Amino acid sequence: MTLDDLPIRDDLRGKHPYGAPQLDVPVQLNTNENPYPPSAALIDDLARAVRHGASTLNRYPDRDAVDLRKDLADYLGHGLTARQVWAANGSNEIIQQILQAFGGPGRAAIGFEPSYSMHPIIASGTSTRWIEGAREEDFSIDVGRAVAAIEEHRPGVVFLTSPNNPTGTALPLVVIESILAAAPGMVVVDEAYAEFARTGTPSALSLLPGNPRLIVTRTMSKAFAMAGTRLGYLAADPAVVDAMLLVRLPYHLSTLTQAAARVAVAHREELLGTVDRLRAERDATVEWIRHRGLEAADSDANFVLFGRFPNRRAVWEGLLEQGVLIRETGPAGWLRVSIGTSEEMAAFRAALEGVLG
Ligand SMILES: *Cc1c(COP(=O)(O)O)cnc(C)c1O
Repeated sequence: MTLDDLPIRDDLRGKHPYGAPQLDVPVQLNTNENPYPPSAALIDDLARAVRHGASTLNRYPDRDAVDLRKDLADYLGHGLTARQVWAANGSNEIIQQILQAFGGPGRAAIGFEPSYSMHPIIASGTSTRWIEGAREEDFSIDVGRAVAAIEEHRPGVVFLTSPNNPTGTALPLVVIESILAAAPGMVVVDEAYAEFARTGTPSALSLLPGNPRLIVTRTMSKAFAMAGTRLGYLAADPAVVDAMLLVRLPYHLSTLTQAAARVAVAHREELLGTVDRLRAERDATVEWIRHRGLEAADSDANFVLFGRFPNRRAVWEGLLEQGVLIRETGPAGWLRVSIGTSEEMAAFRAALEGVLG
């Protein structure tokens, strides 16, 4: 029996699942996780909150996660309220709900690649036709080309990832504003890495007033160091939240998830306290790679895209042999390394020296 023998949807035939390798190696720098685990004090607070939540597990959770959405709105600032914030199991589920509501059969979504590999995969899962827009040589988005592609395909959803994964590139607000003006449907700015951006990099949150077709997505998986919690969220017009209510499964966010996420927001000072360290380590990594005679893309995220290698697979495997797992992704010849602790980055540099000889 194979997948092809099943009466699966025709549009899923031949598709490949998301598959970043999950390997048990000493230095894991492949999925842009935050390398710092929660402190003992945070673990104690999590355990207390989960214990309290556990005493109510015979009941369904708050279907609308109102308290958590209030906390997240406070964290985001920009005068946002719970009515403008929505939460789900990771920003991947947020993206899925957006495509369920604004994409789907007969509609298209566009992204500007290289970009986040999950956008086309979630489009496929929701039967949304995927349009592959292009970035420039320097990984920026050319407004003229982007607007032309949008006018040609009239997508229901435009994805703009800023800072972009896997390149690290942040978009100027004027690019987002121009695309908002041209797009006939929703514009999603995926800001999974916003907290890592260099000082002075503006967030698309500042564009929300007066732009009801703009959605900004965030996650606790990266800067917040809570990838295992599975908590993502969006900020948008309250009408967008109403759209999410139409497609979400009732009680999608478990009591335990809501409790853990609220503790994480309460501890945000500690959790986000690692961001400055990671940014400094990132900038040092870019400098070291360039000094080594290689190329590194400017990064506003917690990873660096570097290259170029005639045989990137050989470099990736050489690093893995030395216990360092990075990601084989991005345009041909490039590799992506997530920023870890200074010890992990030293191991990465030593392993790369070993591979390059
Ligand atoms: C990691 C990442 C996410 C996060 O997904 P979660 O489901 O919240 O873990 C979202 N968008 C981009 C661009 C990412 O790189």
